[in-house]
Amino acid sequence: MAKSQQRDYYEVLGVARTATVEEIKAAYRKCALKWHPDRHPEDKADAEVKFRESTEAYSVLSDAEKRQVYDTYGHAGLSGAGGGVDFSGTIFQDFHDIFGDFFGFEDLFSGGRGGGGRSRRARRGSDLRYDMSLTFEEAATGVNTKIKIPRQEFCAACNGTGAKAGTGVVACQTCAGRGQLAYQQGFFTITRTCPACQGAGQIVKERCTECRGQGRVEKERIIELRIPPGVDTGTRLRVQGEGEPGPNGGPTGDLYVVLDVKEHPYFERRGADLYCTIPISITQASLGVELQVPGLGSEEKLKIPEGTQSGAVFRVRGKGLADPHGGGKGDLYYHVRVLTPTKLTREQRKLIEQLGTSLKVENKPAERGSSLFDKVKDIFG
Ligand SMILES: [Zn+2]
Ligand SMILES: [Zn+2]
Repeated sequence: MAKSQQRDYYEVLGVARTATVEEIKAAYRKCALKWHPDRHPEDKADAEVKFRESTEAYSVLSDAEKRQVYDTYGHAGLSGAGGGVDFSGTIFQDFHDIFGDFFGFEDLFSGGRGGGGRSRRARRGSDLRYDMSLTFEEAATGVNTKIKIPRQEFCAACNGTGAKAGTGVVACQTCAGRGQLAYQQGFFTITRTCPACQGAGQIVKERCTECRGQGRVEKERIIELRIPPGVDTGTRLRVQGEGEPGPNGGPTGDLYVVLDVKEHPYFERRGADLYCTIPISITQASLGVELQVPGLGSEEKLKIPEGTQSGAVFRVRGKGLADPHGGGKGDLYYHVRVLTPTKLTREQRKLIEQLGTSLKVENKPAERGSSLFDKVKDIFG
């Protein structure tokens, strides 16, 4: 190992000489991820050098004894022991602790650990998404419905193997049945999943005609779905275990039903509360009136007292939407707008003029905070 141009280990990891073991570990993790050869396909050789350099720095600085030797004697102290840095020890176990199953590290070092052929690993199946449109009323009351979901299922004809009945499988020639290919790249043995058999290590002799060798077929499943009342656009319902089956016997994914609720012509929704605007005439506002107004699923009686101002809001408690999470119900608000007549007949004009002579309003600005508009009034109770 050439020592002439060796960089300082602390400098390599970018840590202070007083760095703690944790800081060194974190710094190394960053370096290793940055210089992982898989991330530099265009310049693998250079990345590998940097990767090795940081690994070497880590292996020394993470070991209290070696670190002390290095701090005292520098690189010379370590090479003096003969054989330089020992990579065959626990360093590869450390990788697993630091990175877990992070991309390719297991592959990258499987040569170093003497790992053999990789078995087919069970994985969780994909989640599926289904977009569903609901009317406002359906969302308000909730619905029980059935949906058809196309999804991949194991082919029953070949039991998921992809091989035509009675023909079986043969070992993959590309990888000699190992499921992976090993490349020697300088210091490392890098293993890759075999592209010919996708890591299975075997290929079918004759393809199953049902699934064309895929081992899976697309099937339509009918799923019963209970949509709770009060759902809104963007509500996501999770149906556990109705996604796609996991490869190699892994658990099934989930199905997510994403809702889109159509708008209502009258009601505007704010959370579980509903708002509706009711136009009334100036005489109704002046004298009071009792109106039948649309409610959610039924009509409501709206009593407008005499002298109601435009902008007054009346609340009917508990007549809004349900909380789909099981809380209470929202309220229903009626917002009254007094319509000023725009097209008057000659007679109407005369009547209003007469009214005008006896009705006086002082047209000076209202004081701030004065309640020109009525506060929310509860209709019942
Ligand atoms: Zn099949
Ligand atoms: Zn293969």
